[in-house]
Amino acid sequence: MHNFYRKAKFLLSCPSIKGCPEDAGYEVIFAGRSNAGKSSAINTLTEQKKLAKVSRTPGRTQHLVFFELDKDRRLVDLPGYGYAKVPDAVKQNWHRNMSEYFDNRKCMRAAILVMDCRHPLKPFDQMMLEWSITNKVPTNILLTKSDKLKKGAASSAKLAVMKATKDYPSISVQLFSSLKKEGVPELCSYLNKIFEVSNEG
Ligand code: GDP
Repeated sequence: MHNFYRKAKFLLSCPSIKGCPEDAGYEVIFAGRSNAGKSSAINTLTEQKKLAKVSRTPGRTQHLVFFELDKDRRLVDLPGYGYAKVPDAVKQNWHRNMSEYFDNRKCMRAAILVMDCRHPLKPFDQMMLEWSITNKVPTNILLTKSDKLKKGAASSAKLAVMKATKDYPSISVQLFSSLKKEGVPELCSYLNKIFEVSNEG
């Protein structure tokens, strides 16, 4: 199957919502704790080795990064969160940017919330989920690094997260591995629905 997301190319990066592209078309954001595997997931999805930089120095990646799929559709890589060594001022700035983005960005259609399948639903993740529920943003939880668990343990991790979010039909959960390229078709079909792209690409 043709992968529409291979088309992704870097558009711009900006330190705050002020520098964002015009609020038009469709955007899907990628968010997650530092080190959860977000950059790797973006690179795996787009079949590009270096689109999102893997393992940038944590805490120094406060920019919002926009990748263009076509003139109406964009992926947005939000700065990683939850890294303890980040100074308070940077944390506050992150918080302000995120709440501004969630509250104001009309073209935001969905969120991909990346979590390490071995450590899901940490306090920051829960805060992101609360934001998406309050703002009615459909959210797909990507439980990454599934290759680190045996099959049974990975399914249990997924079931536990499904159970914890069962009251919210706008939240879905899937396993993903950048190392083993698992969960890519599932992520593509989730995004295709949101972006209104046919499964044939
Ligand atoms: P980010 O900070 O969320 O963008 O995380 P990265 O994508 O930079 O990944 C953090 C670390 O986890 C790196 O060392 C990656 O090689 C590793 N990693 C990411 N995804 C996977 C995966 O699916 N499986 C395994 N085994 N390691 C992964």
